[in-house]
This record gives sequence, structure tokens and C-alpha cells, in this order.
Amino acid sequence: MNRIFLRIFPLTLLAIAAAALVVYGAIRLFLGDPLEDIARKQASGPIFLLEHYIDQAPQDEWLARLNRVREISNLSLELVPVDTAVAALPEDKRDALRRGELVLDIPGRAFLRRVDLKGERYVGSDEEVLQVLNLPIDVGLELKIEAIRYGIVALFLLVPIAYWSRMHWRELLALSKAADAFGEGRLDVRAQVRNGAAVYPLAQRMNQMAERIDSLMSAQRQLLHSVSHELRTPIARLEFALELLADRMQGAPEEKRVRAMEEDVVELKELVNELLSLTRLGQAEQAAAEPVAVVPLLQSCAKRHEHVLASRRFQLIESVGDCDVAGDPRLLARAVGNLLANAAKYAHSAVELRAERGADGSIVITVDDDGPGIPEAERERVFEPFYRLDRSRDRSTGGFGLGLAIARKAAQLHAGTISVEESPLGGARFVLRLPASTHEVAYKAAYEAAYKAAGQKKSLPV
Ligand code: ATP
Ligand code: MG
Repeated sequence: MNRIFLRIFPLTLLAIAAAALVVYGAIRLFLGDPLEDIARKQASGPIFLLEHYIDQAPQDEWLARLNRVREISNLSLELVPVDTAVAALPEDKRDALRRGELVLDIPGRAFLRRVDLKGERYVGSDEEVLQVLNLPIDVGLELKIEAIRYGIVALFLLVPIAYWSRMHWRELLALSKAADAFGEGRLDVRAQVRNGAAVYPLAQRMNQMAERIDSLMSAQRQLLHSVSHELRTPIARLEFALELLADRMQGAPEEKRVRAMEEDVVELKELVNELLSLTRLGQAEQAAAEPVAVVPLLQSCAKRHEHVLASRRFQLIESVGDCDVAGDPRLLARAVGNLLANAAKYAHSAVELRAERGADGSIVITVDDDGPGIPEAERERVFEPFYRLDRSRDRSTGGFGLGLAIARKAAQLHAGTISVEESPLGGARFVLRLPASTHEVAYKAAYEAAYKAAGQKKSLPV
């Protein structure tokens, strides 16, 4: 059941109930109370008996005929004083009774009428009212029939409403799915909504916006890639030239300055390489999907960063045993390696690398340290390229601010996520979540094969 229908359903029922009340009110106002009409028809037999048999009696026989009717029918005919009868009636009917009209008491299944206005039937007859009880009045049945009628109308109204709201709901879901996917960075996803849909113009606008952002982003990536690529050759030349120069200046006072320039060029080369990796990752749609054993991967990452971890208390804790994730081993090692390098750089004394299974079966790799941590407000921004908390970049502390951006991109290419929180050690905890299991490796490979065979463009179905 969709949310639009759940909202419209009670509103429709309320509207129909209100319409029923308005219809009843309008008929009552212009044509008289319809319930009274019904009751009068149902009581027409006893009324006819009163008007055409009892009332037609000669003057002194009125009471005798009344008694005869009492004997032969199961109606209860009572004579009550006018004042008592008037007091028991609702305000709007009292005058009618006083005027000598026949007044119906629907809940009491009775009618009342004064015997006469001038005391002609018997002595004191103008002081009495004839009350006829046990009439065959049953407006409940009529009310039930009305309720069924309105119920059927409601049902017939709700069927098209349900159909309409279902269509809208599906279209809105398609839109929101596309918006979610787009927000997650899948810029090639477009909302697919049929031409006649009410949200079609909105979907068109969204798609145009997506198209524009996509082309801007790819232009920006392309520019970054081209610039980085073009910078490699002059940097290589500079590196070579500086090396020659430094060799020639051995022992000379300028040698130190040339060596420093050499280091700067090496740093520049690293930056360009990092930028190239980031732009290449940005252009990729999906990582390779080969089975990667989790624990050996972490062990080799730790080994590769031995030089920076040696001065810290380092621990690898794992509870996943022999399990695989589907992915590109080099890319995964790069992501974990970047997290380990950061932890080693910022930790005071301890670093922990951990692998465990999440509640949903995913593989959760965490890197903890006891360093300064990352303030809550910065926890998203540190994944942006070139964003660094410590702006005073120097050679001892400083990288380029690209490590986490690369790690996040690597996680996304594996349909995983990466986030940062507070570590129980007191510093930062980076959490890399990867959908996993050996079965999933097989599933993913089969999915990719089917995907390629179908040659489809990546888009979300409605
Ligand atoms: P690069 O990794 O490119 O050499 P970097 O380490 O400065 O440079 P990132 O790895 O992207 O860049 O990290 C971005 C910023 O996040 C860092 O500059 C640092 O301020 C902060 N940061 C990252 N990891 C930690 C950590 N474990 N503890 C505290 N701050 C961290
Ligand atoms: Mg880093």
C-alpha cells in the first residue's frame, strides 16, 4: 500500500461521510425530514385506521371504535393529557401537536394527535392526546440501505484513486531512486518516467540537471587528468636535470639547495601521480570483481606500512576467518593502506586494524588510532580531495589531502562505503564496509556477464 493512497483513503471516506450529511441536511431543509417521510409511510396503516375509521365515527361512538381497534390490533392506543404529551416531545414538534396535527415520534415508534380541539368527542376530549405505540416503524433498515449505497460509491471511487495513486507513487519512487543514486555520485543514472506521467516534466528537469552536472564533472575530471598528464614530462625532465646538477655540484655550497629542489620535484611528481590515480578512479564505473581474501590482504597492507607502523603499538584483530570480498586487490590494498598511513601519521602511540562481519553479512574493516581524532563537523569534508584539517602543510605531517578521497572512491567502486567516527582508543576510527562473501563473488561475476551480454546502458527501471 503506497503512502499517497494511505493519505487519500481516510480523506475520501471523510468526504463521503460529509457529503452524506450535507445531502441529508439539504433535503431536510428544502423538502422536509426524509426519515419522517419514511416513518410516515411505514406507519400509514395505523394512521389510515385513525383517520378513516376511528375519526369517521359518529360523535358519541368515537371511544367505542377506539376500544374496538385496541381489541383487534396489537397497537397500543393510550389517551394522555395534552400537557404530559407536549412535555415529552422535542421543542420543534410541540406546536404542531398543539395545533392538532399528527406528530411522529420515530425513536419511540409512536405517533400522537389530539383527540380534538373542541371537546366534541367526549367530555374533556380537547384536553387529551391519543398516543399510538408499537408502530411498525424501522428507519434503521433505511439507514443501513443508505450506508450500503454510500459505501458502494466510496468503493467505486477508491478503486480509480488506488490505481492513480499507485501509478504516481511508482513514478515518485523512480524519481527518488534516481535522485538517491545521483546523490551517491552515480552521475550516469537518469530518472525513467513515462511521457504521460504527472511527474514527467519534473523528471525531465532532473535529468537535464543531471546531464549538465555529469558533463561539468567529466569536463573537470578531463581537465585535471590532461593537466596532470601533461605535467609528467616536464617534471621528469626537471628531475633528471636536477639530478645531473646535484651530481656536478657535489661538495659545492649550492649542493644543499639543489638537493632540496630535487625533493620538491619528487613531491610534485607524487602529487601528479596521486591526481592521476584519483581522476582514473573517477572515470571508472566499477572495480574488477575477483575474489580477494580479506585477512591476507590486511596482513600485506600492514607489512607494506611496516616502516611507519614500527614506532606505534600495532595490532591486527580479525574475526572473519577465511573469507573473501569481491573486488580489485590492488585498489582495496590502496584504500586500506591510505587509512593505515593516516592512522600511523596521526596516532600518538597505538593503531588497530580490524576485520569483522557486519549484521548484514558485509565485511567491516576498521582502522583505529589514539591520535587527535576528527571533529564531527569535518567528518564528511575530510573525504574531499585536497581537504586537510591541518592547513600548515609541511613535509613531516603533510600529504596532499588526496588519500581519503582515493580511499572513498575505491570503496564506492566496490559498492561499499567509508566513514569516520570516534575511536574507542580516543582518536579517529575509519570504517570501510564492503558487501561480501564467496557466494557474492560468484553472483557478481554472473551479474556482470549478464550485464555485458545485455549491453544495457546503466539506468534505473521504473
Ligand atoms: P595524503 O593522504 O594525500 O598524503 P593527507 O593524509 O593529508 O594526505 P587524507 O589522507 O585525505 O590526506 O586526509 C585528509 C585529512 O584528514 C588529513 O589532512 C588530516 O587532517 C585528516 N585525517 C586523516 N586521517 C586522520 C586520522 N587518522 N586522525 C586525524 N586526522 C586525520
Ligand atoms: Mg593520507
